[in-house]
Amino acid sequence: MTETLRCVGCGAVIQTEEKNKMGYTPKSVLEKGLESGGVYCQRCFRLRHYNEIQDVSLTDDDFLQLLNEIGQKDALIVNVVDIFDFNGSIIPGLHRFVGDNPVLLVGNKIDVLPKSLKKNKLKQWMKEQAHDKGLRPVDVLLTSAKKNDALDSLLEMIEKYRKGRDVYIVGVTNVGKSTLINQIVQKTADIKGLITTSKFPGTTLDKIEIPLEDGHSLIDTPGIIHQHQMAHYLGDKDLKIIAPQKEIKPKVYQLNPGQTLFLGGLARFDFIQGEKSSFTVFVSNDLMIHRTKLEKADTFYKNHVGELLQPPRADEKEHFPELVRFEFSIKEKTDIVFAGLGWITVKDTGIVSGWAPKGVDVITRQALV
Ligand code: GDP
Repeated sequence: MTETLRCVGCGAVIQTEEKNKMGYTPKSVLEKGLESGGVYCQRCFRLRHYNEIQDVSLTDDDFLQLLNEIGQKDALIVNVVDIFDFNGSIIPGLHRFVGDNPVLLVGNKIDVLPKSLKKNKLKQWMKEQAHDKGLRPVDVLLTSAKKNDALDSLLEMIEKYRKGRDVYIVGVTNVGKSTLINQIVQKTADIKGLITTSKFPGTTLDKIEIPLEDGHSLIDTPGIIHQHQMAHYLGDKDLKIIAPQKEIKPKVYQLNPGQTLFLGGLARFDFIQGEKSSFTVFVSNDLMIHRTKLEKADTFYKNHVGELLQPPRADEKEHFPELVRFEFSIKEKTDIVFAGLGWITVKDTGIVSGWAPKGVDVITRQALV
């Protein structure tokens, strides 16, 4: 029998099948490693060579272990979320793991929000959503890692709440955590060369540590892949389409009841009942929107998804989850939020429905604009 091969960096059992799981090593690398006598898994390899942390699946035991470990430390937890995909960026059960540690909630990517949006309303909404999930952040802050916006405030807030303790940065993939960390590293002067990667005893997960002045550290943890993120169902190219790169230009549609809007092939909005009204769509400027009749919408989707209605692409549509419908009775100005895609503001009373790929949420909130 052959011996189980383990990564010499983290001790994970080496495997070549599942990219996002612990111990993954490409086959070609494995062969070379065997010749030289030691194999690093891809995550450790990258960590050693590029200071890059690789993401792990949320269900991964090691990740839960890491969260547990954070709960046992006396530390400040900075939870980075994507304001465009709040529900897709919440870490389920985080509140159970953090113990008594304070959590600072950071909503990233504010640069894509239209100027008309009231930031305080957004912060208030984030707070309510967090409370809903059992998380009680000590503070909420909005940042743009990309535009270097509010990062000074973030550092000040970290200093205020960490009270001489370590700081753990946690978040699901794609919220901009790496970008944010890189900016912080650059801001905290010339400590660039000082970043150390180190292993913590009792866990197989490596983390990046940025030393702080008082001997404590800011610790970056692996991003968690969240199954309910729209991003999870799309390839890199499509991600570029749905993730707004620039400030969103809201698009206004005058709709009669009985009309439907498709957001690419990713989501659908039906105006079922009410007076003719205007509906404002806040999604990436690159995402194509199609208007059609509600009665024909099912057939239209079937015939055109992967082509006229993209993303998903033709070769992805087979594996793309079916759209699931959520119905809402609207009483006041409301946002219908499609997790990870954006939202549609409904002004007047009526009945509407929102559809999203199975597993992705459609929720309502008081209109932000
Ligand atoms: P991570 O997986 O959380 O580490 O996320 P990354 O830092 O790799 O960022 C994911 C994607 O979001 C990349 O395409 C980034 O360019 C983009 N991104 C990160 N921060 C921001 C931001 O503040 N604004 C915008 N518009 N995009 C961002």
